Amino acid sequence: RAAPPAHRPAPAIHPAKHVNGRAAGRRSGFDYLIVGAGFAGSVLAERLAAGLDKRVLLIDRRPHIGGNAYDHYDDAGVLIHRYGPHIFHTNAKPVADYLSRFTKWRPYEHRVLARVDERLVPIPINRTTVNQLYGLDLDEAGVAEFLKSRAEPVADVRTSEDVVVGAVGRELYEKFFRGYTRKQWGLDPSQLDKAVTARVPTRTNDDDRYFGDSFQAMPLNGFTRMFENMLDHPNIKVMLNTDFDDVRDEIAYDRIVFTGPIDEYFGHRFGKLPYRSLTFRHETVDREWFQPVAVVNEPSEAVPYTRVTEYKHLTGQSHPKTSITYEYPSAQGDPYYPIPRPENQELFRKYQALADNTPDVIFLGRLGTYRYYNMDQVVAQALAVYARLEKEEQQSRGL
Ligand code: FAD
Ligand code: UDP
Repeated sequence: RAAPPAHRPAPAIHPAKHVNGRAAGRRSGFDYLIVGAGFAGSVLAERLAAGLDKRVLLIDRRPHIGGNAYDHYDDAGVLIHRYGPHIFHTNAKPVADYLSRFTKWRPYEHRVLARVDERLVPIPINRTTVNQLYGLDLDEAGVAEFLKSRAEPVADVRTSEDVVVGAVGRELYEKFFRGYTRKQWGLDPSQLDKAVTARVPTRTNDDDRYFGDSFQAMPLNGFTRMFENMLDHPNIKVMLNTDFDDVRDEIAYDRIVFTGPIDEYFGHRFGKLPYRSLTFRHETVDREWFQPVAVVNEPSEAVPYTRVTEYKHLTGQSHPKTSITYEYPSAQGDPYYPIPRPENQELFRKYQALADNTPDVIFLGRLGTYRYYNMDQVVAQALAVYARLEKEEQQSRGL
């Protein structure tokens, strides 16, 4: 096999040596090389190892497992999320059941306040939001009437502006969505697919939960512990600080699962797929609590960050200090968000066509399939791919 490109630093453990050193009696090399130890890669690694007795090498270029859901104790001893707030929620019972094999849960319902007109009001917009902002005391029907009178019906809802203006009118759209979205995505809501702001519902009742899902909880001992349990299997070898390019030609494997950016895999040959990035400013504050809820959104464009997270609300940890994170959106940096808009989808489809013609590589996850997926959707996607591989295996064994 060809030598790796000279400009790449060598991985910490020389993989070829490691592979050659595997227990005698088993074929050398791995059945699967899985790139990315986030939800997509870790779930599939666990399933292939435990369900089909496959030998899996799971690599990640970062120094830790868990992908963007990674959490850890900071210098003050507070459990924080390195890549911003991650709250688990799903309507998919099979997904919750699957993850429950690796963690117990802490019941938690997420609540968010937005700073609008110098006060903190609930987002998603609900009865309380309307009554507080406008000094009213409307009941549910009254709020429905209020929003209807302000909504500007849009015949063909296509963009993220259409969704919100069509539901609550321009004034509330501008207060809650326009500035936040421009900051978060570097685009006006009118330039983004409707799916983006459609993630946030509008309510006329008092329900102030951010998510409406049937299962909402945090892993009791954190996400990283859950991933450790998932990957604790003799068939799984994990290598961190290891880029795909460092090992792709160095080790033996039958198949690749790639959960990094799909355009990167193909050398950006059709051009770069746009991703939105974030810079996280983590701080510890010397008081017990910083803000009334886990997340406070800042829709004003005069404020450079989009939201502030205080983790103890999520984790239930007791600590005399508290740690918080400010999120500053940016065009440069790690790819966190695929950007849902038609031209990007079109470019993605070109890469998908290439992927369809590369059957030995399975593309998976938020970056591998360029989809704005939540954690539970990524788990569901990985389980679906596993089901397909399991079936293939059964067919090939003539079962
Ligand atoms: P990732 O977690 O991105 O994992 C991919 C891994 O691949 C990374 O660790 C990366 O280092 C590695 N990798 C990439 N390329 C290479 C390479 N060439 N070589 C080696 N390694 C490579 N979802 C929710 O359900 N609830 C939430 O509250 C929530 N909040 C979020 C907040 C933020 C700020 C962000 C950014 C996302 C949030 N999400 C949330 C979404 C969630 O993070 C994703 O759905 C999930 O983590 C995606 O998992 P993944 O495995 O597809 O990708
Ligand atoms: N959004 C907004 N104002 C808010 C909350 C959300 O404009 O107060 C918009 C924004 O475009 C955001 C999208 O709705 O990117 C989806 O919000 P969500 O909280 O789901 O974003 P995520 O947690 O994925 O960053």
